[in-house]
Amino acid sequence: MNTSIKILIVAALAVTVVAAVALKKGKPVTYSSAATPTVTATAASPDTANTAAVANAKLPKLLDLGATKCIPCKMMAPILAELKKEYAGRMNVEFIDVWENEGAGKQYGVEMIPTQIFFDATGKELFRHVGFYGREDILGKWKELGVDLGGNNPVGIVRETPVAADTRPREQVCFMCDGDVNAKSRTVVKGQAEQRVLCSPHCYFIYFSSIVGADLKAEDAKVNVADWSSGNLVAAPSATYLYGMDAKGRATVRAFADKDAAIKEQQANPGNLVTWDVLRSKELATRCAFCDRAVYPEDACAVKFGTTRGYDCCTHCAMGVAARLKQNIEVEAKDGLTGELIRVKTLDGQIAALEPATTVAWFGQKKGADGKWVSAGCFKQGFFVSEDNLKKWLDARPPMTGRQITIAQALADKMKLTPEQIAKACKLGECK
Ligand SMILES: [Zn+2]
Ligand SMILES: [Zn+2]
Repeated sequence: MNTSIKILIVAALAVTVVAAVALKKGKPVTYSSAATPTVTATAASPDTANTAAVANAKLPKLLDLGATKCIPCKMMAPILAELKKEYAGRMNVEFIDVWENEGAGKQYGVEMIPTQIFFDATGKELFRHVGFYGREDILGKWKELGVDLGGNNPVGIVRETPVAADTRPREQVCFMCDGDVNAKSRTVVKGQAEQRVLCSPHCYFIYFSSIVGADLKAEDAKVNVADWSSGNLVAAPSATYLYGMDAKGRATVRAFADKDAAIKEQQANPGNLVTWDVLRSKELATRCAFCDRAVYPEDACAVKFGTTRGYDCCTHCAMGVAARLKQNIEVEAKDGLTGELIRVKTLDGQIAALEPATTVAWFGQKKGADGKWVSAGCFKQGFFVSEDNLKKWLDARPPMTGRQITIAQALADKMKLTPEQIAKACKLGECK
């Protein structure tokens, strides 16, 4: 690297990590000098042969000026490689290392890296962006610039009407998770106007953690749980709970009106006997880092931000952590069908890494009273390692409606939310 180039790392702001690197130059270089780049300008780049082909092909070009050792540049590399492959013959994608090739940095008037320059097919500069730039944003920008790259982005699966209606009686469908209601673990919240049926005390606590400004005493007075032995409803605070664990390490909760019956059950199914208050503190111990709902870590996505680890109730909430905390996050999600591990890393509110790259998201949506499509809730969202897995998952859910989206879109949807919308996320009657 030429010693005349001094590299200054722009202090990463606590709020938005502007991970671009400044190239301090002796004299200022204006951007206009890069308006008409020529092929020879990049003669020293490792991509020379390809560059020559670029000029002949007369294709739009995405030029990324960076360095192999700068962190945001490194994170751009797989995105550029993917675009280069996917849009071969329709867009040229080129990378120039300006630490190795100082001339190119000057030629294009680059002051910070990475810098991406968008050229039309005639070589005219249309736009430039400084800093990390995600795949979806790059493609979106081309569209905005009016450059048609010949859509290779299939819409994916869209299901506006259910394949088959859900014919289960309402009282047999859990208000929270849509699962079947087991008569032995049924939990009922008696409101003034209507009652809500939940499949289990666990879904009740998810419900409870979704109420804005819940009054504990008032809410407790409304809850009834089925006695595990008889199926009869009893006031939740009066029951004894056998809190055990299934083979997968997931909590099991059985309610008993009669403590002796609970002790008897404990011999067959080991666990701790706890009161409603203790059960509540256990159930509310782990919360979604985005929407604050109660979660079981075994069911949740794991999210890492800085040195902190948290959990999310669903894959889409996991993306929301980047928006809520304005931090870069790393998510470990599970394929909705097979449980296969999916890893997502974000940088500056964009997807920086996705494993496997074929991962797609399902955004469960339903039509609201006003005819507009709204989120169908956390239980109807998911990530899948392939579109094939998503198809199989949907085949098993005929009443499901919604659409397939990219992981970048799932993140972008969350990044658009205002702080007020984030505060109301997943809250009953507030989640829009
Ligand atoms: Zn449920
Ligand atoms: Zn959540």
